[in-house]
Amino acid sequence: MPWDTEPPRPEPVIASPPLREAFLRGAKGLCPACGQGKLFQGYLRLVDECSHCHTELGRIRADDAPPYFTILIVGHVLVPFVFMAERAWHPPMWVHMAIWPALFGGLSALLLRPIKGMTVAWMMRLGLTGTEQGEQTAVMPPRRTPRDV
Ligand SMILES: [Zn+2]
Repeated sequence: MPWDTEPPRPEPVIASPPLREAFLRGAKGLCPACGQGKLFQGYLRLVDECSHCHTELGRIRADDAPPYFTILIVGHVLVPFVFMAERAWHPPMWVHMAIWPALFGGLSALLLRPIKGMTVAWMMRLGLTGTEQGEQTAVMPPRRTPRDV
């Protein structure tokens, strides 16, 4: 008889949330699957697995998508104000260089984490949970809704 050192891991029984709910949970830094466990350890590093539902969050690789979406949003929000300020007041270049990089950097730092959480939630919903070697892993709990019961 083999010696088992770890007890069997319980199967997740949490239904997959709607996309909007998963987005909100991810933006708050919570597990998109259950909304109870933490999604991040530190600023942007994902936890290996959810402490509540044991969803393997650490295997989801968002890569460059969160910075891409952050730059896209921050650029569209702030660049019109750069042009409006230049057209209205014609400030010297040192004023532009003192204000805009700080605003771009600060807003990007504020938005990057919630955007990464939403990206991870979106990837979970789309089933984009494979490894770099192309191996698919079962990350998301089975999709069951009250209608399925
Ligand atoms: Zn969870």
